[in-house]
Amino acid sequence: MRLAVIGGGPVGLVSGTVLASVGHHVDVVDIDASRVERIARGVAPFHEPGLDDLLRAVVDSRALSATQDLNDVVPRADVALICVGTPSNGDGADLSALKSASAAVGRALRGLTNGYRVVAVKSTVPPGTTSKIVEPILRAESGLSDESLGVAMNPEFLREGVAVEDMRKPDRIVIGVNDERARALMEELYRPFSAPVIAVSPTGAEMTKYTSNALLATLVSFSNEIAAMCESIEGADAAEVFRALHADRRFRPPTSRPESPSTITAYLLPGLGYGGSCFPKDTEALAVWARARGVASPILDAVRAVNAQRPKRVVELLRSRLSLAGARVAVLGLAFKPGTDDVRESRSLDLVRLLHAEGAEVRACDPVAADEAQASLNGIASVSRDADSALRGADAAVLATSWPAYVALDPAHVKTLMRRPLILDARRSLDPVKWAAHCEYLPIGVRA
Ligand code: NAD
Repeated sequence: MRLAVIGGGPVGLVSGTVLASVGHHVDVVDIDASRVERIARGVAPFHEPGLDDLLRAVVDSRALSATQDLNDVVPRADVALICVGTPSNGDGADLSALKSASAAVGRALRGLTNGYRVVAVKSTVPPGTTSKIVEPILRAESGLSDESLGVAMNPEFLREGVAVEDMRKPDRIVIGVNDERARALMEELYRPFSAPVIAVSPTGAEMTKYTSNALLATLVSFSNEIAAMCESIEGADAAEVFRALHADRRFRPPTSRPESPSTITAYLLPGLGYGGSCFPKDTEALAVWARARGVASPILDAVRAVNAQRPKRVVELLRSRLSLAGARVAVLGLAFKPGTDDVRESRSLDLVRLLHAEGAEVRACDPVAADEAQASLNGIASVSRDADSALRGADAAVLATSWPAYVALDPAHVKTLMRRPLILDARRSLDPVKWAAHCEYLPIGVRA
């Protein structure tokens, strides 16, 4: 099949690359010229494990190309996948990129009555968006009826950091359609994958995606609420509490994907809170959407409130041991999670800003996201790639993102670098016995 993928971000480029690798021909369209130029050379414009090699292979074999010219590729495509960003506008989802991409796709299809095509929304959008906003735009701009144009909603569940693996081996494919012809074409698109296809309505597909992210965010905030309780009493350690919970067979990995290292238990741990380009804006968008419909969302509201508190709580813990004004604090890890250079809504950045506001001199580091983070931390923190330069002369260090390289740091070496070897483990990723032998080890989730 020929596909046009509109938007070459993590979702568009990873899905496009994997779909090209299983036999489809994919044209990735993006309005960002430098992004298009890199993709066309087979170079991923962001860090995602496994993507560089696969992208180079599909570009070399001409299964994938990149362009800014949507009009050139959309008319030739059997399916166009809209994968543009839907960030927060401060009070819900900003659908401007989605609307303009839909209008451009519609215009590119104007008058084309040969054959049958489907335009599918892969972006995460509030329930009702595909049917009430995208489809009317597509029909008005293209002039096409459902005889020649089908409209679908096909949410994406990949996780940054393991996106290629997730896309290659999806747990399920959700297809939201209102007619059989569109459903058949979307099923054809995903035939090379062995995952079960769940066909629902477009609105059902949109709600499915929000439900998934809202539940995972709820687990994170629930864990952090328990962590805060454990921090208030002697003897209860949240890490031990959750280790015991994870042993419950109801939390074990699905046997269908024993190779997948992370299960739902990855969301049931004490930490700094959820960040990234999805959970924060999707929980906000769902709550705003519900409020506009007169539906109360007290659980979601609490999930968001708990999340907002978490970096503050970590700063308080550090303050209980150290006067922050004038102290030099190293923050290890700036990406919102390991395996990505994405710093959107990263809790580490919030932590850095809070420490700076307390008067601390912050030296932050990240092995892959240093450049991305630098722009938002100008004048607030110095940013490097390696941990040693951040740790040198520091009065305290916070492990904020569990990069394997940071988890593997040698505490004896770290002690020699720091002015005061006070280590706050905000992810509970460090070996407490090893670290306590050399440093002042301060874990979250337990009374300090
Ligand atoms: P992104 O913002 O990182 O990338 C979007 C890309 O679309 C950018 O390169 C941008 O230049 C391009 N673009 C914007 N308008 C365009 C237009 N009119 N024509 C062509 N290109 C255009 O977004 P992302 O992280 O890839 O996410 C895309 C969507 O998928 C969002 O709705 C997001 O919520 C959802 N999603 C993201 C993830 C994730 O892990 N990032 C996972 C599942 C779903």
